[in-house]
Amino acid sequence: MANQGTANGRGYNVFKLLLIGDAGVGKSCILLRFADDTFRESYMSTIGMDFRIRTLHMENDEVVKLQIWDTAGQERFRTITSPYYRGANGIIVVYAVNDQTSFEHVSKWLGDMEKFAPEEAVRLLIGNKCDLEIERQVTTEEGEELAASLGVPFIETSAKDSTNIEEAFVCIAKAIQEKQTLMAP
Ligand code: GDP
Repeated sequence: MANQGTANGRGYNVFKLLLIGDAGVGKSCILLRFADDTFRESYMSTIGMDFRIRTLHMENDEVVKLQIWDTAGQERFRTITSPYYRGANGIIVVYAVNDQTSFEHVSKWLGDMEKFAPEEAVRLLIGNKCDLEIERQVTTEEGEELAASLGVPFIETSAKDSTNIEEAFVCIAKAIQEKQTLMAP
């Protein structure tokens, strides 16, 4: 279950989300775009922080707080330790559309997730850097096919020009809400 909090006396849910995927696919930039609406061109191995929080007002009037964790560079060792996954409500697996290898590693990241994440955690597949059309190595159809075969929703994003960033987080927040409704006693 999500953690409970209160905002101005009103209840809200805190959803823990994780961004996973190969180094360099743009996880930190996706987080920065969503949390601060900024973008950084230069490559840094970590953004020097563990997580960011942003409030979302959902269609059903519920207020949810997304606590979004970045790997802080752990994925460079091709593994992410199990405590990172603990208590996660949603896992976002990211590849870059101009990086075929990152796409081929999606199943490996999902496999890790299945080992360590709570069973009820929902998943989302993101193909990032869709602004780099001329460098594209993975077609939209390939992304859609992989997502369909894995049974996860799929969205292409660009942290650089903001394409679908908000939509991606709204999509996973809605999926978590739906899952919690289904699981409610
Ligand atoms: P991480 O290792 O997955 O956290 O990747 P970063 O967020 O550090 O991004 C790696 C590099 O990709 C940086 O140079 C970013 O500026 C660049 N980048 C991230 N997202 C995008 C995007 O949507 N479009 C483009 N063109 N570059 C991006």
